Amino acid sequence: MSTKPSNSEEEFFALEEQEKKHQFHEKQKQEQRELQKKLHFMKCPKCGYDLKSIRISFVDVDECGYCGAMVLDKGELAKLKIADNTILKALVDVFKKDR
Ligand SMILES: [Zn+2]
Repeated sequence: MSTKPSNSEEEFFALEEQEKKHQFHEKQKQEQRELQKKLHFMKCPKCGYDLKSIRISFVDVDECGYCGAMVLDKGELAKLKIADNTILKALVDVFKKDR
């Protein structure tokens, strides 16, 4: 009776080992992302100071209390543009009524 593993057995264990390494690295990357998020959440990307939420034209944006930088979340710039257009249109309408 032969004790030498077959090629398919070697491939199976090699693939299993490769998958374990891959899962280990993915878990490490995920832990690193969560750590980075904890460290940087609501911190200014320029100076590291705390960000606070302020409301501009019905949109909540994050502003640095130290350097004044503003951070927009995904989609907030588009909301500001829409709000800005609404304000501009309201102003134009006011001027039209005065004539
Ligand atoms: Zn700042």
